[in-house]
Amino acid sequence: MDLTRRQWASGMAAAALSCNADPDRASSSSEARPASGARARHVIDLHCDTPMLLRHGNYDLGARNESGQVDIPRMRAGGVTAVFFSVYTSAVRNTELEAVQEALEIIDVIRREVDRFPDDLTMAASTEDIEAAKRHGAIAIVLGVEGGHMINSSLGVLRTLWRLGTRYLTLTHSRNTPWAGSSGQEGNVGLSDFGREVVAELNRLGMMVDVSHVSDQTFWDTLKASQAPVIASHSSVRAICPHKRNMTDEMIRALADKGGVVHINYYNSFLDSDYAKRASRWESENPDVGRKEGGDARARAKLAAIGRPSLDTLLDHFAHAARVGGIDAVGLGSDFDGVDGELPQGMEDISKVPSIADGLSGRGFGAADIDKILGLNSLRAFRDVESAAEAGRLG
Ligand SMILES: [Zn+2]
Repeated sequence: MDLTRRQWASGMAAAALSCNADPDRASSSSEARPASGARARHVIDLHCDTPMLLRHGNYDLGARNESGQVDIPRMRAGGVTAVFFSVYTSAVRNTELEAVQEALEIIDVIRREVDRFPDDLTMAASTEDIEAAKRHGAIAIVLGVEGGHMINSSLGVLRTLWRLGTRYLTLTHSRNTPWAGSSGQEGNVGLSDFGREVVAELNRLGMMVDVSHVSDQTFWDTLKASQAPVIASHSSVRAICPHKRNMTDEMIRALADKGGVVHINYYNSFLDSDYAKRASRWESENPDVGRKEGGDARARAKLAAIGRPSLDTLLDHFAHAARVGGIDAVGLGSDFDGVDGELPQGMEDISKVPSIADGLSGRGFGAADIDKILGLNSLRAFRDVESAAEAGRLG
């Protein structure tokens, strides 16, 4: 039953080899070449919210679902080799103690779902695990904790989350924690002394420090405090779309100088400020549309009414970040399954990743540079964080 998949996988391996041996020839011999996204040595997405769908039931990673953006068939179609599944709990509805319990339950849900598909998926907690998964033809699932509220201001909880396999901590979600400021609140609060201890502990553990969602001041404080590269797991470019969740050119440059990677978020309202205005106008004028039907009905009605940004708008963010931060500083951070399907035309789900590669190729990016953006930069930054931890480990 898996013959097609196996054939596909061996085709991929051959394509990757030929790409390594002679990238120019591989890119000019079109008949032997799958879509350029599939040719990459790795396709790694640093931020998918699919666990929210798993938690609420009725979502099967093994099926090609009508709803959502990420499942095994669509990851295979997109040539995906690793995905970071977000461990996300509300920072508003829960106390921090409740958030700790919820985080544990989400990790349980993810692990149980991954265990159902041993041929296709494998939990991964290191760059070595990600490489091994690819060698075995499986997709690596890595855990990232989206919000410092889930440690309840406890380094013991943080260390335990690390032992459970989580490999990045987004310092805040949309609310300040007692020790770090969020972009979702006024005041531009920075990192406290305890916040600096959290960063130091993340460095010591080899867990990536993620500055998506943090306030500008916390961004700068974190960059100063961290002894290892820092990532933004799902943030776009503020020079193109002025939103506090996005990064200024100065931030992109500083992150890059430290070996970090900004993983571009595909959410329409972070890509295109005109879309964001249309969306909020539609929200206020249509408070009830699609609510009764539930599911994706409201999002579908909204997109039908206001349209989507083009794929080119998304590509602008990738190209700008690469121009400002350099080719080693850009990666994929889709936010799939976290944005109600509000995604650009042609990027409706994870199977469409090859379109990013093709689009960048059309803009003059070479094969090796596209490979970096699709996954190698993320892998390298993760490896650098691991190495820094090994070098400085206190035991
Ligand atoms: Zn987020």
